[in-house]
Amino acid sequence: MTHPALTQPTLTQFVNNLADYDPNALPVAQAQRIVKDFVQPILGIETVPIWQALDRVLAADVISPISVPAHNNSAMDGFAFQGADLAADAGTTLAVVGTVYAGRAFDGTVARGECVRIMTGAVMPAGCDTVVPQEFTQDASDTAVTVPQGVVRTGDNCRLMGEDLQEGRAALAQGRILRPADLGLLASLGIGQIMVQRRLRVAFFSTGDELRSLGDDLDPGCIYDSNRYTVFGMLTRLGCELIDMGVVKDDPASLEAALRSACANADAVITSGGVSVGAADYTKQVMAQLGDVTFWKIGMRPGRPMAFGTITSKGKRAYLFGLPGNPVAVMVTFYFFARDALMRMMGAQNAALPVLRAASQTDIRKKPGRTEYQRGVLSTDSGGSPLVRITGSQGSGVLRSMSEANCMVVLRHEQGNVQAGDLVDIVVFDGLT
Ligand code: AMP
Ligand code: MG
Repeated sequence: MTHPALTQPTLTQFVNNLADYDPNALPVAQAQRIVKDFVQPILGIETVPIWQALDRVLAADVISPISVPAHNNSAMDGFAFQGADLAADAGTTLAVVGTVYAGRAFDGTVARGECVRIMTGAVMPAGCDTVVPQEFTQDASDTAVTVPQGVVRTGDNCRLMGEDLQEGRAALAQGRILRPADLGLLASLGIGQIMVQRRLRVAFFSTGDELRSLGDDLDPGCIYDSNRYTVFGMLTRLGCELIDMGVVKDDPASLEAALRSACANADAVITSGGVSVGAADYTKQVMAQLGDVTFWKIGMRPGRPMAFGTITSKGKRAYLFGLPGNPVAVMVTFYFFARDALMRMMGAQNAALPVLRAASQTDIRKKPGRTEYQRGVLSTDSGGSPLVRITGSQGSGVLRSMSEANCMVVLRHEQGNVQAGDLVDIVVFDGLT
């Protein structure tokens, strides 16, 4: 198993070299940059059938072994002929000299004034460069057909050899997260097995004495551990291999044992809770003992406190994300800090979340000097333009509004109040992938 290299500079050295670094008032953009620059890919390659390659990270460029299509072929059912035969200002009548089906070639020759009935996907006969779709023709019989004036131009409805993929050229680049279209593309090249990065192993647990696991009695003052389920969902969507370590009590020995075990088995550890200033929070203390961890107060809402770094046990190192405890803050810090870092560890390229713009339906109060992530519902106005509405309560413990939302509205650090109709940045939760 490859673990984060033990040779790279420590996070402490890394942040000390930065100008304007203040862990107690860290702007979002700076925190994101530190995380991104500090984290290194954890590479390990495996070969899998393309069936199993969906959402995996491609480990090497794929060079086309063949051209697709391999021959010029027809894009329509119709008649193939030489475009030069088309009369400039009248219909053109051609003699039909044969028929060619998909998957077959036409062995005859097609002379000037002649044509061949052709099916979609059939190889273009030698000498033909144009196809008139059947439905545009007139007076078609077994022996002749008329192409009315103006319905096609030379080259129409002919797919050219290699227009999809050219032999010897890169078809897919290393670091790509494979989507359904890519599986089809690989299949079109005849490639059935592909090299992908191994899955990232991520251990996760929740901390807090007040937490109860599902199935336990909910003692007075206690709450069910919900963070482990949202973290499970988000990590699963990223394609990680998960190590669920349950709920860990807020006591130094349990926390230390959990973090050491995570180091031994995982590339990264995600915890929630215990990273703010609470009196009974040993999480910070133990994290600091085991590793090279910085504790941040990020200029954001929700999710101010976060721990980031690496922890080491018995020569094995894992990246650590100590996310805040509040259920919405967990999701926001995961999406806007941990996600990019995990993607980078997986060797993924260009995996940043797309940011779109939508008009705000209402005024939104916003103080400059911190980034706010508000839960939003994206819709469209009567003209089809994107509109976004903030969901009700934005409290950082109100998971319901996260569940009702379909996007996050990102109000930037320097941004002030938003007026109804202003465009705001949004990141949508779901989409075609
Ligand atoms: P903490 O950061 O540990 O002080 O937690 C902040 C808030 O989030 C407290 O109200 C906790 O009860 C709550 N919280 C912490 N962990 C979880 C969890 N795993 N599931 C639900 N709520 C949590
Ligand atoms: Mg706690």
